[in-house]
Amino acid sequence: MMLAKPLAEEMKAKIARDVADIKKNFGVTPKLVALLIGDDGVSRTYVDLKRKDCQEVGMESEAIDLSHFEKSESQRKILDKIRELNDDNSATAVIPQMPFDGRVSEEALFSALSPDKDVDGLTPYRLGKLMRSEYSIESALLPCTPKGVVLLSKHYNVPIESSDVAIVGRSTLVGEPLRKLFQDLNATATCYHTKSRSLDRKLKEADIVVAASGRPPELYGESGFRLTKENVKQGTSVISVGVRRDEKSGKMLFDVDTNSLKGTCAYLTPNTGAIGVMTRVCLLQNTITAARIQLHSKTP
Ligand code: NAP
Repeated sequence: MMLAKPLAEEMKAKIARDVADIKKNFGVTPKLVALLIGDDGVSRTYVDLKRKDCQEVGMESEAIDLSHFEKSESQRKILDKIRELNDDNSATAVIPQMPFDGRVSEEALFSALSPDKDVDGLTPYRLGKLMRSEYSIESALLPCTPKGVVLLSKHYNVPIESSDVAIVGRSTLVGEPLRKLFQDLNATATCYHTKSRSLDRKLKEADIVVAASGRPPELYGESGFRLTKENVKQGTSVISVGVRRDEKSGKMLFDVDTNSLKGTCAYLTPNTGAIGVMTRVCLLQNTITAARIQLHSKTP
């Protein structure tokens, strides 16, 4: 099982040292500002976890609740806040918590946010750098979950070069950036989606399968997705990303049936303790990167 803990602990220790260095050399403490835009309990929980993570490595953090504006004025007020944060030197990193629930358009928000503070790697500039392969995986502002998937795969020496990678999902947040990262490591990576034909056959041919649909059959019926051992070939590697909470029962439902896959996979992530942990630590690493970008022109 590809548990994230050993790598995440190592990364966090380095991040804590980086925070101390930046404080000592520049008199600045990296600070992550999380924006709560959609008004739901899960987003609040994620924002709280981000603040806890920052505290653990000595960073500052702030949560700003922007979910209470009237819908008619929310876009303007949220964009005003983004511009204010762009100019605020104490806020070295900004993360708008998704989903936005229609309160602001994603396009408008990520066009307004400074790419130097964009620790989710979702501004057009950051996505453009990724598309042009102008990045280094360790020290670029890349989307956190795809970066976490690749770092964990590398840590466990999952064979990537020349492998066929099937990614279920094509979002700008997860599927597409991940496809590009794998492609840049000389894999042949493809994103699949709800209109893909012959998904069963294509998954069975893949050397690495990443499941990132977030559509559990318990909630989505026929249009849902669940990966079991019937879907993959012997010796494949499976990475579990997709998860959705059943609002009625409070139960977390995952894309991957990990129990059925034990004994079939060469490498397998558990549903908890792997990609979620990596996503969180990559956000901290990106927060260091953002602070460094902003301090770049200053001495020492
Ligand atoms: P999203 O924007 O809803 O995208 C889901 C993608 O899956 C879409 O491209 C969709 O296809 C595809 N899809 C849905 N049902 C499918 C099916 N039955 N067969 C094939 N493809 C299907 O979600 P997201 O933001 O990418 O996130 C994906 C999942 O990862 C979510 O569950 C999210 O909670 C989870 N996630 C986890 C972490 C973590 O830390 N563990 C971090 C980020 C995201 P269409 O494009 O055709 O609609």
